[in-house]
Amino acid sequence: MKKTLSNYHTHNYYCDGKESPEVYVKKAIDLGFNALGFSSHAPVLFENEFSILPEKLGDYCAEIDVLKQKYSEQIELFLALEADYIPNKTHDFSYFRKKCKLDYIIGSIHMITNPENGLIWFIDGGKQERWDNGLKEVFGGDIKAGVTAFYHQTNQMIERQKPEILGHFDKIKMHNKNRFFSQEDSWYQNMIQESLQLIKEKDVVMEINTRGIYKGRFDELFPSVAVFQKAHEMGIPLMLNTDAHHPDELLGYYSEAAEIIKMAGIRELWHFSKNGWFSMQIN
Ligand SMILES: [Zn+2]
Ligand SMILES: [Zn+2]
Repeated sequence: MKKTLSNYHTHNYYCDGKESPEVYVKKAIDLGFNALGFSSHAPVLFENEFSILPEKLGDYCAEIDVLKQKYSEQIELFLALEADYIPNKTHDFSYFRKKCKLDYIIGSIHMITNPENGLIWFIDGGKQERWDNGLKEVFGGDIKAGVTAFYHQTNQMIERQKPEILGHFDKIKMHNKNRFFSQEDSWYQNMIQESLQLIKEKDVVMEINTRGIYKGRFDELFPSVAVFQKAHEMGIPLMLNTDAHHPDELLGYYSEAAEIIKMAGIRELWHFSKNGWFSMQIN
């Protein structure tokens, strides 16, 4: 059977990743990839250290389009964005779809806003201290309020912005490290269940993201095995991405994750092609 190797979630020097897009293409071809997707962080409406500068968005899209043509015989390339959703503080995803001919958008929550004070809690990145301080400053240390806001924002993004792919669902657990809440808590499980129902209803593809593990930030995939197992049982399509920020991370914890997914009883993963979505047996 034909081997299928793909990664639809990568960052390069247009945002907070390292190296040019072309270096990723060459590396992916060397590794025998069938498909590679570029998903730099979409610009947001305020200054930050991780997203594409608004004035560079056109260059980014044009450069990926050139690479698509140049390497069309060797690999399928896709132009995408990983877009944040913060009510009133980010562009509608339709704005990016108008600006560039995107193949898909990964919708991801990296920042949570507290509707009561308008402050923003940055929940990603390598620093646990920043997460802890954000929880204190934005939600007064109320973990249940913070986590609830995370999942509500996720649900709102799915309903209002219609991303094709949901990025690292449950990332809020990363710096929690079982200190403030447990994934077994019934209020937490109810929230997961509610989101899963919406993901299913809106036909969003859920990625399984390996980055936390190979960066040594957390010892579980995003989402956790129990969560993607439940998603699978509900009929939600799953895909595997490494969220590479360097060409050397294109296969970060990829085969290990594929084994974990198989152990969980899942036989197929979803891939994207120029003809649309298709599922393939995990090899
Ligand atoms: Zn992300
Ligand atoms: Zn990412």
